Amino acid sequence: MRLSLQVRLVLGSLVVLTITGLLSGIWLEGRLRHTMQAQHEQELNRLNDVVVQYLVAAGGLEAGMEVDALVDAVGDSIQRRVTVIDSTGTVVGDSALDGERLQRMDNHANRPEIRAARLRPGDRGISRRYSGTIRVQMLYVAQTATDDPSAPVVRVSMPLETIEDAVAGLRAAVIMAGLLAAGLCILLTLVAARVYGSRLDRIAARMRANLSSRYPEPKGGIDGLVQSMDRIGQDIESLVDTLIQERDRFLAVLETMDAAVIALDRSRTITVVNSAARVLLDLGEDPTGKPLEEVIRVPDIVELTRSDLPQTVTQVEVNLSNAGGSRIVLLRAVQQRMSGGVVMVLHDITEIKHLEAIRRDFVANVSHELRTPVSVIRANAETLLDGALDDQAAARSFTTAIHRNSERLTMLLSDLLDLARMEAGETPLNPTTVMLHHSVERAFDMLGLAAEQRGVTLHNEIPSGLQVHTDPDTFDQVLLNLIGNGIKYGQSSGGRVWVRGFGESECIRIEIIDDGPGIEQRHRDRVFERFYRVDPGRSRDMGGTGLGLAIVKHLVDLMGGTVGIEPRDGGGTIFWLTLPAG
Ligand code: ADP
Repeated sequence: MRLSLQVRLVLGSLVVLTITGLLSGIWLEGRLRHTMQAQHEQELNRLNDVVVQYLVAAGGLEAGMEVDALVDAVGDSIQRRVTVIDSTGTVVGDSALDGERLQRMDNHANRPEIRAARLRPGDRGISRRYSGTIRVQMLYVAQTATDDPSAPVVRVSMPLETIEDAVAGLRAAVIMAGLLAAGLCILLTLVAARVYGSRLDRIAARMRANLSSRYPEPKGGIDGLVQSMDRIGQDIESLVDTLIQERDRFLAVLETMDAAVIALDRSRTITVVNSAARVLLDLGEDPTGKPLEEVIRVPDIVELTRSDLPQTVTQVEVNLSNAGGSRIVLLRAVQQRMSGGVVMVLHDITEIKHLEAIRRDFVANVSHELRTPVSVIRANAETLLDGALDDQAAARSFTTAIHRNSERLTMLLSDLLDLARMEAGETPLNPTTVMLHHSVERAFDMLGLAAEQRGVTLHNEIPSGLQVHTDPDTFDQVLLNLIGNGIKYGQSSGGRVWVRGFGESECIRIEIIDDGPGIEQRHRDRVFERFYRVDPGRSRDMGGTGLGLAIVKHLVDLMGGTVGIEPRDGGGTIFWLTLPAG
């Protein structure tokens, strides 16, 4: 049988109360007995002294004297029983008994207090026992009248009923107080159970309403309520666990995001910031808990978050300048409906913007590059159709122009196609060991005629054993381009182009050098861009498309190498590239 919580509370408090009452009752009783006995002993001691002095002074203790009358008188005046016992143990005077009854009294020589008094004359013998004579519990104090052990003994006694009466009174008081306390205790426990029970009931109902509808109405008063609270407690615990897991997951996602995220509360204090935001905005130490304006000094961002944002996403482009240079950032911000806080997500779109600009320039450049040869072909064809066909010399010159420009178109389209293929990842590489000296020799053979026409001599200074691990066709294409440029843009008539190679631990460095005018510093970083020409007129005259170095850069990247330019002491250009050793 399961007792209700109220009954258990009441029983529990009653048990505690009973134990406490019993223990304190026993202790109080002991204390009371002890104190009262000590008081009675003290009183009898004192009275005994007085009675002895009185009897001695009155001469009542001398032989042959009538003691009983004196003893009666003194017993009467001190309201205590006084007894005088001679050296034989015979009672010679007793304030409680007279005449014949006194004569019939037992010999008192063996009474404990008398024996004790005779053993230590002048000192007191004390005894607590039941008196057969007057049939009550008594306290006796006896003392010899003088220091002589055979002197009469004077004894004063009193009944101990007063102590028992006081103890009985105390017991009754303790029991009454206990009963009263038990009644109060039951009442208070029931009232408290009812008052707090209904309060808890209301709290539980509110919690149930807030949490979910799956908590049934509690049954069986406080017990049912406690069960309900238990369930709610368990659910809250698992809810908190879930929230902690969610938060950890959220923070992990936030930290691994490329986008910068900053969350602000209603007062625009930073509550969450991820590491991408710290890097992008150069925030240094953790800015969480600080006002946004104190941490981020970008007027556009501060202004945006200061105003009341709509609850749809607001999107702006912001320019940021910090130690890392100038960046373009796409900022998306949204106001949270409930909390009034703001969440900002920032994407660094500098690269995208740059690529967009390159693409725009590229389209414009391609159109521009195509327009010239196409218009030349068209104009020459029209002139031929308009009658120049009949003039043999003119017809030849126009047809030659058409041919030259169509070749230019072909080269342009071929370079564009190469670039497109490379960007689409359609340039398969089959790396193998490539003997550098042989490759350069092959390139020289192919470019020999062009070099001869420009009066340029070619020199292969690559050590014969040097080899790289790369795709031979791609490498040939790079060599042809760079050596070809050396021939085209280097010094003509007596100019030189030479190729050197060095083994550098893991990779090989190859240099294509000419002794031409060189490339100025301001152009050096840009010549690898598409359609970038140092001298556009000269490049076109040379049949250049402006795409050669862009293709070289792409190819070297594909081969896992690097390419660059250095000026040559004494004039000219050094194009260098590094490739993995073979
Ligand atoms: P192009 O098809 O015009 O040759 P490239 O991309 O190969 O285009 O070269 C880009 C520009 O770099 C050229 O127009 C030229 O002005 C310059 N250039 C390339 N190589 C050299 C060189 N060895 N010496 C001087 N200028 C050069």
